[in-house]
Amino acid sequence: MKALRYVEVGKPPVVVDIPIPTPGPGQVLLKVTAAGVCHSDDYVMSLPEEAYRDQHYPLPLTLGHEGAGVVHELGEGVDTALQVGDAVAVYGPWGCGYCHNCSTGRENYCTNADALGIRPPGLGNQGSMAEYMIVDDPRHLVPLGDLDPVQNVSLTDAGLTPYHAIKRSLPKLGAGTYAVVIGSGGLGHVGIQILKALSGATVIVLDVNEDKLELAKHVGADVTLISDASAAGKIREITGGLGANAVFDFVGADPTIATAIAVAGLDSDVTIVGIGGGTASFGFGSIAYDAAVRVPYWGSRSELIEVLDLARAGKVDVEVQTYSLDDGPKAYEDLAASTIRGRAVIVP
Ligand code: NAD
Ligand code: ZN
Ligand code: ZN
Repeated sequence: MKALRYVEVGKPPVVVDIPIPTPGPGQVLLKVTAAGVCHSDDYVMSLPEEAYRDQHYPLPLTLGHEGAGVVHELGEGVDTALQVGDAVAVYGPWGCGYCHNCSTGRENYCTNADALGIRPPGLGNQGSMAEYMIVDDPRHLVPLGDLDPVQNVSLTDAGLTPYHAIKRSLPKLGAGTYAVVIGSGGLGHVGIQILKALSGATVIVLDVNEDKLELAKHVGADVTLISDASAAGKIREITGGLGANAVFDFVGADPTIATAIAVAGLDSDVTIVGIGGGTASFGFGSIAYDAAVRVPYWGSRSELIEVLDLARAGKVDVEVQTYSLDDGPKAYEDLAASTIRGRAVIVP
């Protein structure tokens, strides 16, 4: 089968021909129908050799932590209601299944995953950018039903991650409030739709790229602004001097985090989702009283089901740009060049 693999540190990924894997006991083999391209893959491929090894990532590594497919074969002893031929989405942040967090579906915060060496597909395990992929447990599959896999595969990360981030701030986002979204890329453009669907907030979106701001408007942003040093002052003005009730930074670089802190209002949430290498700097007097800063990771299994339900209800629609597996390397070039509108999805 064809697979898009990262084979050498510092080099672009390549399409290779490898054997179709066989599901071991308890595992499920999927025939992949769609695989999303995330900026985090770019981050992983930018790591120097030592940092890459420190993360226990293997080489070669089949990329892809957003995956959808059709159940192709069940390994020995798999006990599941899923049948061969069922359309599914892959829940990516795999955990042990039995710690307290996993027991509540929050496998993204599994307390045993590190010690047991359990890693997400595409981020340690072999991922979804191949014709077939192994899923370690049927627990990590969610039925897609009649949702189109290409249109919706990215909800497993570009939908789930903002959903998890936003859900915790919803009590602060009633009518008359303001939410700021920084970065209207893959995650951001879905985050805007989630905010519009679930909150009463006026949604203000910042990006450095005019095309991304146009996309933000297209998916429902109320106000769009170029992300620069003057943005914080403009947001203060729009919010009558009070600042935002919640800020979601899908970039996470020093300047965007500084903006996020500067526009945070009294008792607000500042949520840093992007892994742009920045750090927050604040203390008494340099952030609004009782503002809270959070750094969430991915989302829970039940939240994935909720995001898919939002799509089913027509309230979230991922903007998709498709590529074949052979064109996979080009998808990463386009991601780096910031020319993708919404999410790049590889269709094997
Ligand atoms: P993307 O490349 O699709 O989107 C990034 C967007 O940010 C682009 O629209 C870009 O123009 C914009 N941008 C860049 N610099 C900016 C600036 N200074 N101000 C405003 N906007 C700016 O990336 P993505 O796949 O949506 O991922 C976003 C970030 O989230 C990445 O850092 C990724 O690694 C991270 N991520 C985190 C989690 C998590 O669990 N915390 C999960 C998935 C992705
Ligand atoms: Zn991701
Ligand atoms: Zn666990």
